[in-house]
Amino acid sequence: MEIGTLIAFNAYIALVFPTIVRFVDLSTMFQRAITGIENVFVLLDTRPEVADTPGAQPLPRLDGDVEFAHVSFDYDREASKPGGPRTLTEVSFKVRAGQVVAIVGPSGSGKSTLINLLARFYDPAGGAVLVDGHDLRAATTESLRRQMGIVLQENLLFSGTLEDNLKYGRPDATREEIVAAAQVANAHEFILRLPDGYNTQVGERGAQLSGGQRQRIAIARAVLRDPRLLVFDEATSALDLQSERLIQEAMERVMRGRTTFIIAHRLSTIQRADLILVMAEGRLAEQGTHEELLARQGMYARLHALQFQD
Ligand code: ATP
Repeated sequence: MEIGTLIAFNAYIALVFPTIVRFVDLSTMFQRAITGIENVFVLLDTRPEVADTPGAQPLPRLDGDVEFAHVSFDYDREASKPGGPRTLTEVSFKVRAGQVVAIVGPSGSGKSTLINLLARFYDPAGGAVLVDGHDLRAATTESLRRQMGIVLQENLLFSGTLEDNLKYGRPDATREEIVAAAQVANAHEFILRLPDGYNTQVGERGAQLSGGQRQRIAIARAVLRDPRLLVFDEATSALDLQSERLIQEAMERVMRGRTTFIIAHRLSTIQRADLILVMAEGRLAEQGTHEELLARQGMYARLHALQFQD
């Protein structure tokens, strides 16, 4: 080969090679995109665990009486054996409208599961959950959840302004209503101290709020919905005293006139409840008021001595 031809050949190789490499990369990217699209469609096709039955009726505005009648439930129906341990076994209790219910019990005893059934994220396997005497299975889930407010320990803020985040409770709320709700929830003052007040960007790329502040935002969201049933998961991790007091105060205002379920960890909350449900291994071990349960000297009295503190 002439030296000139060799140089030309090398130059062509240098031109062709990156194109081949890019082509190979492209086909890998294409494969990945196809897998991604498949996953997206699987997600979009997911059926919710609970779907409205044909003929389901919307619930009217609720008073807030709640009854669990012999409720049994398993997350994994296939794995559950008759007579074997269940997530919930034969749970029965009645709550009158406007009462405050504290749910207590060791970790994994089924406290959150009770709430999941009340919000109808799942249907019971046996027995029934009734609200104002309506079996939830015969009602539309939308009409139930519209009348429920849920405040969790960890509350999600999405990217957007604080006002957007509050409006998530009720998209058609006016600025006045939002401010009023934030005031009830003890959130108004800290919001005003932020650089852009209600227009401050929060979430992934915006201002970071503390756990206590996020919880107060969640309370304000719940207030905006004016729910008949309220669920509150009390924080287990220590909030600072000031934050704790503000949340406590906000909750007391919001609970008035609404049936409230609290997954409770603080003694003061539990003592004030109209009804305490003591869960143990998926069963309702005891129920009653603080005094009644202490007098029984049973599971509650033991938990009280060991676990609850202020
Ligand atoms: P904690 O105080 O730790 O929150 P808990 O009393 O609220 O506990 P649950 O969350 O109701 O307990 O859980 C009851 C049981 O059900 C546990 O054994 C738990 O592992 C199981 N469980 C909870 N959620 C699910 C789920 N989505 N799928 C399967 N099993 C679950």
